[in-house]
Amino acid sequence: MPATRFAPSPSGQLHLGHAYSAATAHRLAREMGGEFKLRIDDLDPGRSKAEFVDTIFEDLEWLGLQWDGEVIHESHRLARYDAALADLQRQGLVYPCFCTRSDIQQALTAPHGDPGAHYPGTCRDLPDDPARRQTTPHSWRLDTDKALQQVGALPSWTESDGRQFTASRSDLGDAILARKDSPSSYHLACVLDDMDQGVTMVVRGADLRPSTPIQRLLQTLLALPEPAYHHHLLVTFEDGRRLAKRDHAPTLKAMREDGVDGHALARRLMDQSLPLGFRLSQPT
Ligand code: GLU
Repeated sequence: MPATRFAPSPSGQLHLGHAYSAATAHRLAREMGGEFKLRIDDLDPGRSKAEFVDTIFEDLEWLGLQWDGEVIHESHRLARYDAALADLQRQGLVYPCFCTRSDIQQALTAPHGDPGAHYPGTCRDLPDDPARRQTTPHSWRLDTDKALQQVGALPSWTESDGRQFTASRSDLGDAILARKDSPSSYHLACVLDDMDQGVTMVVRGADLRPSTPIQRLLQTLLALPEPAYHHHLLVTFEDGRRLAKRDHAPTLKAMREDGVDGHALARRLMDQSLPLGFRLSQPT
């Protein structure tokens, strides 16, 4: 059965952009005769707050966007992510990285460094050192060259309107798959969750399009099915500014408390009709 999803991070209150994303995913699911899934992206223990999880449910109910099936909370699924990382370790496709942020910054801005590169590769070819791994915090990075060699082609994907895209090599860095403070990272968790929720169309803002090449590569390496993608425009203020807290973007909670009709708002958003003062924009 077709399925789309909405995957907010509970690190703040949702705003109109989230409502647009959820309404779009809901509309596409219903048009395909499929399901609309909900996932809570609460992997980051420092930024996720229980109160924001509660308001996600309240906001969706207010909008009348009922989700189907069980809700996934990423923070409950660490063993699942760990097992997938172990699979990539067995395939020899990941390596431990001991670099700190400032190590990486220094290497990229050094005279022969490439400031545009994703990761300078400092730890890529270190000999394995189990003692150091025992005692030193480290993340795990994908060895992109090895991964691409194994897969034999650059990742590609199809948008919901049928357009096909192929990534270029420079779209892919040695992404972190498990962080120092967490057994997973967004990319690894996202592809496993999408698979486990039976998501056939990934619906999200076009600002997340740069995540698609690495996620498609991970899907191939882990033998996961390929979803379609719908990267939608972003809701901005009329003058193109992004909705940010410091610009007093209204939260859905505030709109709810002001008595705005959430069901009517969701119907408008499904028709791509934005309230006065807002519009849809390409990400900058
Ligand atoms: N949790 C991410 C966000 O709120 C979305 C992730 C995704 O849709 O893949 O921006």
